[in-house]
Amino acid sequence: MHGMLAYCRPGFEGECAQELATEDARLLTGGFVRSKRDSGFVELILPDASAARQFAESVGWHGLTFARQLLRLRSRIDELPREDRLSVLMPAIRSNSHGYSDAWIESPDSDAARELAGLCRSLGNALVANLKRESLIDSSSPWRLHVCLIDAQTAFVAEAQTSRTSTWPGGIPRLRFPSAAPSRSTLKLEEALLMLLDSGERERWLKPGMTAVDLGAAPGGWTWQLVRRSMHVTAVDNGPMDQKLIDSGLLTHLREDGFRYRPPQPVDWLVCDMVEQPRKVAARMADWLAQGWCRHAIFNLKLPMKKRYDEVQICRSLIEDAASKAGKRIEWRARHLYHDREEITVFARAI
Ligand code: SAM
Repeated sequence: MHGMLAYCRPGFEGECAQELATEDARLLTGGFVRSKRDSGFVELILPDASAARQFAESVGWHGLTFARQLLRLRSRIDELPREDRLSVLMPAIRSNSHGYSDAWIESPDSDAARELAGLCRSLGNALVANLKRESLIDSSSPWRLHVCLIDAQTAFVAEAQTSRTSTWPGGIPRLRFPSAAPSRSTLKLEEALLMLLDSGERERWLKPGMTAVDLGAAPGGWTWQLVRRSMHVTAVDNGPMDQKLIDSGLLTHLREDGFRYRPPQPVDWLVCDMVEQPRKVAARMADWLAQGWCRHAIFNLKLPMKKRYDEVQICRSLIEDAASKAGKRIEWRARHLYHDREEITVFARAI
């Protein structure tokens, strides 16, 4: 079997499939996508090994928005015997002809597959023990083995280079809600900083004393992430901000319209979680980035409409066009985060 396997949020298989099909068309790899609504995964079937290699080498998980994880498909097994699943899995794994640094047994994030968590755990332990016994675990290998259980009898055998994949099983970061934060949406910005920036960027770009504006800030979950890093935040929202944030001395709260506010001087960060039409938000982000009012921006684009993939492309072009008129180029990284529902989160900066 030649192809790719992507995980996504259930209900977003269409967008994930569109994204993979767009890359396939760009690379002329001649594949087709297969997906089922609410399954939590999408397959891209490719004609041969060379097309699969080309796709895997050209498209990384980092560059995709709706895929939480991107793996190279090796085989699909439809009749795993309940009494000894490894007897069928092991021959399929051995035929891949290289060792793995690790092996993960996962299931998609769908309601149906979630019931497989116990099976994934027990099968995972037995699989790793078997791989070690056969010397197929090699800590220096760049490859990780992924076995994706769709139901108790069906599995995909897949693999990926660890440097090109999400480091979280299922592509889902397990974050604990910080009890001092004023709202659960704090996890969204925490995940965004983790998934959209690398560790060096987090260190360089999120320093104590830096300045930020938070548009649509109340009650302050996103602001909390910045204040916790000792940054000075101007929170723009008509709603009330959390008292502990006010007491921090790092907050200026302005009861103003976030679509009209402009900073008296450029800030290091703009973050924006206003619930509005995505194009309206994108147009305002375009102003901030093109005019140089912020160095870096993280914003949500709420996507309650049908053509969500197309809407994201329209918003991106809108921002890129505005930057280009100002003689700048936009670096754009967008993800449908685990903590996002009908929305995506974008990191952008003008260079
Ligand atoms: N990020 C916040 C947090 O972590 O606590 C939650 C933000 S909530 C999803 C959206 C906020 O946007 C609301 O507090 C709302 O008052 C604010 N909002 C909507 N339109 C706005 C506007 N035009 N100007 C300023 N704030 C606005």
